[in-house]
Amino acid sequence: MAVTAREKFDNIIEIKNVTKVFDGITAVDDVNLAVKRGEFVTLLGPSGCGKTTLLRMIAGFEMPTSGTIMLEKQDVTAVPPHLRPINTVFQKYALFPHLNVFKNIAFGLKLKRIPTGETDKKGKPVFRKFTKDEIAEKVERVLKLVNLETYGHRNVTGLSGGQQQRVAIARAIVCEPKVLLLDEPLGALDLKMRKEMQLELAAMHKNIGITFIYVTHDQEEALTMSDKVVVMTDGAVQQYGTPKAIYDEPANAFVADFIGESNILSGVMKSDFLVEFCGTKFKCLDKGFAPDERVDLVVRPEDIFIAPKKGALKGEVVSTVFKGTYYEMEILAEGYQFTVQNTVERKPGETVFLSVEPDGIHIMKKLKTVNEFIGTVVDETTVEFCGGKFEFVNSSGLQKGDAVRVTVPFDKVELTDDEADGCIGANVTQTFYKGTYYQVQVYTDDDTDFFIDTVDEWDMGDRVGIKIKPEDIKVEPVTENAEGDGND
Ligand code: ATP
Repeated sequence: MAVTAREKFDNIIEIKNVTKVFDGITAVDDVNLAVKRGEFVTLLGPSGCGKTTLLRMIAGFEMPTSGTIMLEKQDVTAVPPHLRPINTVFQKYALFPHLNVFKNIAFGLKLKRIPTGETDKKGKPVFRKFTKDEIAEKVERVLKLVNLETYGHRNVTGLSGGQQQRVAIARAIVCEPKVLLLDEPLGALDLKMRKEMQLELAAMHKNIGITFIYVTHDQEEALTMSDKVVVMTDGAVQQYGTPKAIYDEPANAFVADFIGESNILSGVMKSDFLVEFCGTKFKCLDKGFAPDERVDLVVRPEDIFIAPKKGALKGEVVSTVFKGTYYEMEILAEGYQFTVQNTVERKPGETVFLSVEPDGIHIMKKLKTVNEFIGTVVDETTVEFCGGKFEFVNSSGLQKGDAVRVTVPFDKVELTDDEADGCIGANVTQTFYKGTYYQVQVYTDDDTDFFIDTVDEWDMGDRVGIKIKPEDIKVEPVTENAEGDGND
């Protein structure tokens, strides 16, 4: 199972424009991904982001609605699971309770037929079963890999959860698949056992050298074990990179918020290498932005320095918690509550000064600042979009029935507690704190995502109404070139 140098650099799996729609719900949305042979790649994201569906399509349990899955340069999109050199380990071990450890692992090997290299009279390849000795040798080898060398004779029902999961892994690797898929395999274990198994899995991966694709919603688990992490939300890949790149250089506010503790703020690029936030200019390492371009930025808690006398931002300590090796403090400065980690404790109420080195500031492009929809003019001053009717200022002489492109800046949308006060109803699906405001994502009743920048705090699941002032709705006739991708 050793990986040759040449093989190591080629892509074993290529996922090309893969989309999966279930009953009108897009679970996986135009995903492109290449996995190198021998890599440990983790699909990471919140519940419902589509990671299991993507894994199941790689395994062959689901067919993509569109797109292609390539395995070793062959299109396997329509190949059934048992004909793919792939095996899956699930959260529930599904071991045979009436068989001992050895027999559970040997089960698949006994059924397997391998080519002898000879052909019959008709020229067809001849197959044979593994011999008893071959099976014993293979089972012993994988038992060693999963640290259960002396457990072959044991009854599986008497084993701990972690040991049962190791048997399940041994059973999955004994037939030497080229790719092992692991769907939250440690999800049923207690915290201590999970931590131990994480280290063991990473070591096992190094020893056997096959490609692992692992699904989890636990960011620490993903960062600890993987060569590369795929961060997903809403069926789409937000970032694909090494754990370090994802932690140090998150591609957007979602990734920054999802991966570990972070301070996510909104800022303005004053020039190359100079960003302003919290009313202060800071040197940074980023360039290539338009003058005064609005950006998101992330500062990790461990990258903020505290001094009693001098620093860029004056703040007051709000709270302090000891975390074993450092203190985690909430410090209010210029209207933003920073999370700061330091080995020196500052007491609540103390005045302190905060500073950040240029390499502690990570600038992210704002992806979108304007909502964009296609709608229809209902009458001279009413336009219908997202399933609701809104008043607008008709300055271009638009007529009833005209198809129009409607744009509304995020900061011009108002959310109301009472949904009856709004033109349409929606549910809050996500909120990000951006330093001086919240960016709220809502899902309207006609299944559209709407973004709102607001100073009010909303909780996920809140039921809201959406209101927009007529003068803040831009309505233009749809021309062939006007249907953009929604990004401004
Ligand atoms: P979790 O961590 O909770 O398992 P996930 O990120 O693995 O979540 P998926 O299980 O892939 O997410 O689900 C993505 C979306 O697709 C969800 O909205 C889910 O309800 C939907 N979905 C998944 N499988 C089916 C199915 N067989 N039929 C209908 N909808 C489905």
